[in-house]
Amino acid sequence: MSNRITRAKLISLITALPIAGAASTAVAAAADDSSGTKAQLKYQVKPGPGGKKCSGCALFKPPAACSVVKGKISPNGYCIAFAPKAK
Ligand code: SF4
Repeated sequence: MSNRITRAKLISLITALPIAGAASTAVAAAADDSSGTKAQLKYQVKPGPGGKKCSGCALFKPPAACSVVKGKISPNGYCIAFAPKAK
């Protein structure tokens, strides 16, 4: 059996390269989605106006997650989607 690559196989490998590049770009964009959401909701790691912070928000999921902001967040953080916990 020969280890030589056929012309047809070589052409198919070369034409597949841009597709693989596009797929890896899409995966990278998906992995970066959490920072986009943080940016969109203006998440910050410090309390907001009036001392509002994630630990007092109904959307906070202890110890460090949120229902709307993807990725790890701080209990002392804040974003514009803040919704006070029911008292
Ligand atoms: S919605 Fe905003 S303020 Fe509320 S827990 Fe999530 S990041 Fe914090």
